[in-house]
Amino acid sequence: MKVLKFGGTSVGSAQRMKEVAEIISDNSQKIVVLSAMSGTTNSLVEIANNLYQKKHDEANTIISTLEKKYEQEVELLYSATEYKTKGKELIKSHFDFIRSFTVDMFTVFEEKSILAQGELISTALFHFFLQENGHDSALLPALDYMRIDKNNEPDMDYIKENIANVIKEQGQKNIYITQGYICRNAFGEIDNLQRGGSDYSASLIGSAIAADEIQIWTDIDGMHNNDPRYVENTKSLSELSYDEAAELAYFGAKILHPTSVLPAKLANIPVRLLNTMAPEAEGTLISSKQRKHRMAAVAAKDGITAIKIKSGRMLLAYGFLRKVFEIFESYKTPIDMITTSEVGVSVTIDENQHLEEIVNDLKKYGSVEVDTDQVIVCVVGDLIAENKGYASTIFEAMQNIPIRMISYGGSNYNLSLLINAQDKKQALNLLSDQLFN
Ligand code: ADP
Ligand code: ASP
Ligand code: MG
Repeated sequence: MKVLKFGGTSVGSAQRMKEVAEIISDNSQKIVVLSAMSGTTNSLVEIANNLYQKKHDEANTIISTLEKKYEQEVELLYSATEYKTKGKELIKSHFDFIRSFTVDMFTVFEEKSILAQGELISTALFHFFLQENGHDSALLPALDYMRIDKNNEPDMDYIKENIANVIKEQGQKNIYITQGYICRNAFGEIDNLQRGGSDYSASLIGSAIAADEIQIWTDIDGMHNNDPRYVENTKSLSELSYDEAAELAYFGAKILHPTSVLPAKLANIPVRLLNTMAPEAEGTLISSKQRKHRMAAVAAKDGITAIKIKSGRMLLAYGFLRKVFEIFESYKTPIDMITTSEVGVSVTIDENQHLEEIVNDLKKYGSVEVDTDQVIVCVVGDLIAENKGYASTIFEAMQNIPIRMISYGGSNYNLSLLINAQDKKQALNLLSDQLFN
């Protein structure tokens, strides 16, 4: 069985949903994972933010605008009055539910329930569409099988057992439809896999059912060699290894959720990135095969903070790094990059929630400097030391960009540079010119 995930743009209108139905209508058995229609999760986040601030009128305005948009799409999606009515009733029940949270006690629990509505609506509407058109389909409720544990990590045993159960309950069907992004947490509450998490859902489902292939259908023909939002004339890569794809996803290639490669890699399931707008395009195949001797792609990760801790004599004082790392660990803040010298150490984080406490604790061990608004630019490929010259090519491209940190050798597949956010676009373009053009 294959798992096919369609992102927000791919199901962003009635017309797009019809195109998805076309793509999945061969006779092979599959699980179809859907995101919310594009823009919906952003609107739900806005609604929740207003509700936190008790701005009920503002929240209600966004709720009504979003509801109207759905009513129009329902009108366009179905042909029969029976299905138009079913669709409208479904929309009404979800939006009545969202409106029921315009109450004074608004907590993270209510917020997560609101954020889940986008995927619940898109899958239900799509399921009705398939039914109206005579497809053999069933809905698998993600909240019945997708679960994260106390550390917010997927509970693989639970997912495996329970997805098998929900499939069994539905019996043999050609198309199983399910929600991306949403899950339950260790307390059984509604939760999610973070923004962009539908890719992660697809990969967890693929791993849980030992799928033959995981397909991520989106609005571009696969992984490009640079970020098309900042660089013109980027090119699609026909193949990537799991390690390369994981580095690119983690370091900012938005086409894949940062953690979505690992479950597929562990289960050795090929992942194909495909374009809903051009279904015949080859796209990108991600597998265990590593193409030798090439710089594959560049990506950039925003919102980075660099922290420098200068101490007397860092390298001689063994135990210094452990003490530094323990502080980050105690605030559950992951470190992305690290560089060391005799007198100090610099690290980067992308999670600023506990920055103040971390800095205060670090001051015990030396002086601390913080730089916000940084970006990690990373070049990914087969960059092992024997492939001479890659580093110098990269630095030649970056000769006029101030570089704050450099990381190379952590894996064979990544060379990372920390630069100011204002230099990001220029750096990505210079790297493209030098490495790929
Ligand atoms: P979906 O809604 O289908 O999940 P996303 O918007 O999350 O789609 O991801 C697709 C987008 O990722 C593309 O439209 C593109 O702008 C962006 N993107 C960023 N970096 C890359 C890259 N290296 N290759 C392809 N797309 C990229
Ligand atoms: N709908 C969610 C989001 O917008 C999940 C996803 O699209 O992957 O973040
Ligand atoms: Mg996405």
